[in-house]
Formats: sequence, structure tokens, C-alpha cells
Amino acid sequence: MLIILLGPPGAGKGTQADRIVKNHGLVYISTGDILRKAVKEESSLGRKAQEFMDQGQLVPDNLVVEIVRERLKEPDCLNGALLDGFPRTVEQAVFLENVLPEIEAAIDQVLLIEVEENELVERLTGRRVCCDCGANYHVKYKSPKVRNVCDQCGGDLYQRDDDTLTTVKERLEVYKKQTEPLIEFYQERDLLYTVDGNKEIDEVNEQINNVLKEL
Ligand code: ADP
Ligand code: ADP
Ligand code: ZN
Repeated sequence: MLIILLGPPGAGKGTQADRIVKNHGLVYISTGDILRKAVKEESSLGRKAQEFMDQGQLVPDNLVVEIVRERLKEPDCLNGALLDGFPRTVEQAVFLENVLPEIEAAIDQVLLIEVEENELVERLTGRRVCCDCGANYHVKYKSPKVRNVCDQCGGDLYQRDDDTLTTVKERLEVYKKQTEPLIEFYQERDLLYTVDGNKEIDEVNEQINNVLKEL
């Protein structure tokens, strides 16, 4: 089983993914998380990716697709995977289609989380992330019990380098130009399911569970 989460930065993909994988026993694959880890470790991938990420641009397709191909081949993906943040371009989507026969998998559903632009800016600039476990918080909408401390593991919370207003605006433009065409791409394949992401976290999760029930 393969589920894809599609939507602009800040739509709540990571937040919802956390719940989906817990409820449905899927392996979580976030290209953003993999790339941030590579940057932190200063690996050769990280060194190549960093300048693009800092500027809010996409990392070149050829770097990203290889990561995903290798990850999907790991045995734990046999029971199903949830892709967050991939594919992000039509080229990546075509690549994924071509890789699927290799791993004997198929895309079951593409979940599009739609959110209004003002709200996206608010969510991204207020986002805080745990430096140890990666859990997501928000200064207003999802604040931790103790300020700047992760509820789940006690780690420190930080603001991502690319969650500043200028970079957020750039990322939203990049989404419109390079990722939005995927909506039509998956509509044509009859795989697209849209949920209203403007609602509260629990409500969005309920909508997603209703869609996943159809599987
Ligand atoms: P994405 O992975 O799509 O970039 P995140 O899941 O990281 O988005 O969410 C972005 C920010 O918005 C986080 O700070 C998160 O806590 C907050 N958030 C997520 N979903 C909602 C929601 N439905 N309502 C309000 N805030 C939300
Ligand atoms: P968000 O959902 O908050 O925009 P992600 O964590 O998914 O953030 O991605 C952060 C950054 O990592 C992106 O702005 C981009 O530079 C890079 N990135 C992540 N996934 C991809 C991808 N599939 N293709 C190209 N670049 C990617
Ligand atoms: Zn944590």
C-alpha cells in the first residue's frame, strides 16, 4: 500500500502523517526529514542540498529520486508506506510510476490537503520542531505543555531555518509553480482525494480517516 500526502508547505502534512502511520501501520517517508538529516550530518547529499533548502528552492530531482528509490526498496516498506513531500514535481511523479513495478507496489491514494495562503504563512512562521524526535508544534495552535520543550521526549524545540517569512513566501511560490501541476496529474489517474485542511487538526484527521476507509 502506498499513500501520498500532497499539499503546500504548512498544510499539516507532517502533523497528519504522524497520526496516519500510527493508525494504519505504514512506514513514514519524508524527503524533507531525510534531507535535513543529511544536512545536519554534512554528508555529500547534505552539502549538495543545503543551499537549495536554505533558499526555499527544491533540491534537484536527480538527488531526491535516488533517495526515494533506495528507501522504498527496504523490506519494512512491504507492508505499505506513506510518502510526505514526495513527489514534488511532475518529473518526480513520473519517476515514481516507473519505479513502482520494481518494488511491486502501486499508489492507492493521493491525499491533497488544501489550506488558504494566509493561514499557511501563519502556520509556518509559528512552527516549532523537536530537535531530537522531530515532533511538530506551533506557538499558538499546538503549543507544548512546557515552553520550548517537547511533550513526547523532552527535547528542545527550534525554528527551522526555512520557516522565516521571506523563505516561506518563496516556498509557496515554488509550490504553485512546480508542485501544483501534480493535482491534475493525479486527478487524471483518478487517485486524488481532497480534504479541507483549514479545519482543526482533529477534524482534518477525521476527514482523512474517512477517505482511507474507502481503501
Ligand atoms: P507540513 O508538513 O505540511 O509543512 P506541518 O504538519 O509541519 O505542515 O504543520 C505546519 C504547522 O502548522 C505546525 O506548526 C503544526 O503544528 C501546525 N498545524 C498543522 N495542522 C494544523 C491545523 N489543522 N490547524 C492549525 N495548525 C496546524
Ligand atoms: P514543508 O512541507 O514544510 O515545505 P519539507 O520538510 O517537506 O517542508 O521540505 C523542506 C525542503 O526540503 C524543501 O523546501 C526542499 O528544499 C526540500 N525537499 C523536500 N522534499 C523534496 C522533494 N521531493 N524534491 C525536492 N526538494 C525537496
Ligand atoms: Zn521530541
